[in-house]
Amino acid sequence: MATATKPRKSTKPAAKTGHRFLMCPPDFFSVEYVINPWMEGNVARSANASARKQWKALHEAIAARANVETITPQRGIPDLVFTANAALVLGNTAIISHFRHAERQREEPFFKEWFEKHGFETIEMPRGMFFEGAGDALFVRENGPLFLGYGWRTVLDAAGLVAERLGVEVVPLRLVDERFYHLDTCFCPLTGGRLIYFPAAFDERSVRLIESHVPAARRHAVSEKDALAFACNAVDTGSAVVLNSATPELEKVLRGWGFDVVQTPLDQFMLAGGSAKCLTLRLNEELPAAKRSSGSVAPITSRIVEFSGHIIDDGTLPRVMDLIPASGGTFHVLHFNPGLRKDDPTQIAMEVKATSAAHLDSILLQLLALGGQQRVDEETAARLESVTKAGVAPETFYSTTIYPTDVFFGGKWLRVKRQRMDAAVVLDAKVNPPTATCRLIRDLKRGEKVVTGSEGIRIHVKKDNHEDAGEFKFMGSPVSSERHVEAVVDLLAWDMKRIRDRGGRIVWVAGPVVIHTGGGPHFARLVRSGYVSALLGGNAIAVHDLEYAIYGTSLGVDLRRAVPVGGGHRHHINVINMVRGCGSIGKAVESGLIKSGLFHDIVKAKVPFSLAGSIRDDGPLPDTEMDLLKAQAEYSRLLVGADMIIMPSSMLHSIGVGNMTPAGVRMICVDINPAMAAKLADRGSTDATSIVTDVGLFLNILARKLAEE
Ligand code: NAD
Repeated sequence: MATATKPRKSTKPAAKTGHRFLMCPPDFFSVEYVINPWMEGNVARSANASARKQWKALHEAIAARANVETITPQRGIPDLVFTANAALVLGNTAIISHFRHAERQREEPFFKEWFEKHGFETIEMPRGMFFEGAGDALFVRENGPLFLGYGWRTVLDAAGLVAERLGVEVVPLRLVDERFYHLDTCFCPLTGGRLIYFPAAFDERSVRLIESHVPAARRHAVSEKDALAFACNAVDTGSAVVLNSATPELEKVLRGWGFDVVQTPLDQFMLAGGSAKCLTLRLNEELPAAKRSSGSVAPITSRIVEFSGHIIDDGTLPRVMDLIPASGGTFHVLHFNPGLRKDDPTQIAMEVKATSAAHLDSILLQLLALGGQQRVDEETAARLESVTKAGVAPETFYSTTIYPTDVFFGGKWLRVKRQRMDAAVVLDAKVNPPTATCRLIRDLKRGEKVVTGSEGIRIHVKKDNHEDAGEFKFMGSPVSSERHVEAVVDLLAWDMKRIRDRGGRIVWVAGPVVIHTGGGPHFARLVRSGYVSALLGGNAIAVHDLEYAIYGTSLGVDLRRAVPVGGGHRHHINVINMVRGCGSIGKAVESGLIKSGLFHDIVKAKVPFSLAGSIRDDGPLPDTEMDLLKAQAEYSRLLVGADMIIMPSSMLHSIGVGNMTPAGVRMICVDINPAMAAKLADRGSTDATSIVTDVGLFLNILARKLAEE
């Protein structure tokens, strides 16, 4: 039976396996620079004598069970001690590491020389293609594949080359926690196809990949405590697992799998971010011939994306270059033509690579939203999938943005109709010419063809949102506060007048604060002057306006004197009751119950309105639509053809409207809370302007201004 050796030394002599390891004595080891989070604050803090002692104990533990060879340490190259990073060895081939940091690149010639002297065929990586050997490339023992960690040190591009040169299947895993900067700090394959790993060090997709390759019974996810004690940085001698430390739980798992567990403290090396495994390199790694192929290149897929315009000035280019690696992909610039004069556009074409088709789609969709364009031909036409269940989109459906969008179908670009956010695109090829239309998921019908993935999709981001340098942008800054309000209202009034005079549409989305703040009469003046083409709101704005019309109060407060009125708390419910008695707000106006106020003027001016219900609503009023799907459809209908949407003090309904509206429609949000501006901007539109002020004041100034005009 396997025994755990704690205290440190095993009492019975361990049988030697045929494993061979390379180690480097720590004669010149110390922390001299900072290239990982473990080194931070530890420069010159390691004690060499203690490090030597710890290394010797590790060496003895391994040498008792396997064969250990050594490489001569070099003065001034402290990390040579971490031989795991020397190379990746398979059979007689060693792919020599090409380190990301200059500090460690100095190790490369020493490792290369050692391998050549010892009869290995060596392969060097091209310059700039960083690959840190068995620190980042580990075989799941006996069966393959080769797992390759990327994200901090090794680059994703290395996967293709390693797969091709070694003729193995490579599965790239993305590392996301910098404390686990090498794969061997959080992932340890063991004899018998076993694995211990720390899932939180990987992105979700990589965890799924690990789980799909290693059956649950053969893998163990270590605790954070074990992970931070470098338990995954363990050496597998074939019979024993040698590591810095293991919790009783982990020890039990390893013993249950038949391993001897040898704990030997390595805290001196942890100051530099390394432990047992980092200090060793397995030299006789073999794979069964059946697992060697003619180079099953890793599942890396790529597509070409181009950007053009003032992409340096407007920050698009740096965003693109950050976004791709941050999403786990990589890129290769194929063509770059920087604009040499101020007005010259910059052009770039890049090959974007990812680890699977779905991964590539997720990156591509973000790039398209930044204005990236894909080259298209019949091969890359929009991918279509049928709806198999009414009201449910295919899993990979393309979810729309607010920007004008085209899909490539039948050799042509088709402009998507009824553009809005968060919808699917239905392609109808039965009509001539074919059409593409935004459709809410819930409205999808069985058999309809929906655009999926990211191929054959083009989004016109720049054209409508005025991001291009030098392009005119109405009301300049997205948020106007305090003293700017008067000036902004001047501009707004001017623009509203132009829209009204040319017969355009100004749609309002308003909350009840309009009434509480005394803005109702000013709003009503705007209705009478033709500046309100439609009003979208909830139950409350109407309830409080009608209460004001009947009682002169809003929520029981006398608006003229700003004091609560005795018994006023039930005014609003009385009003709801009275209007319910009439059948509708329109009938209440006709019957003479409502003689003044915002809704009185709206009814008289035949301005269409829609009141969407919510869970907060009292009553509700007979006009309030409590079926939200119907209310959304009605809002949508009233928004068609809007030139401007003004949103005074209504967070709930404004955000809803923002999602329904395509780019290019100017939105003015008036709210006392600047956070509202951010919420609207989140939909990605720069057409939204927020005026941070009291809504009563705003309506007063606006109505005064337009009345003067
Ligand atoms: P909301 O949270 O959607 O929006 C209120 C917004 O007004 C907030 O963004 C806030 O920052 C802003 N605001 C507050 N004071 C302001 C001021 N002085 N000037 C400018 N902005 C100001 O809330 P809502 O629209 O009041 O209500 C949400 C839902 O609840 C609606 O559907 C509404 O009909 C319902 N509601 C019903 C009743 C009722 O039936 N009696 C009462 C209240 C709300």
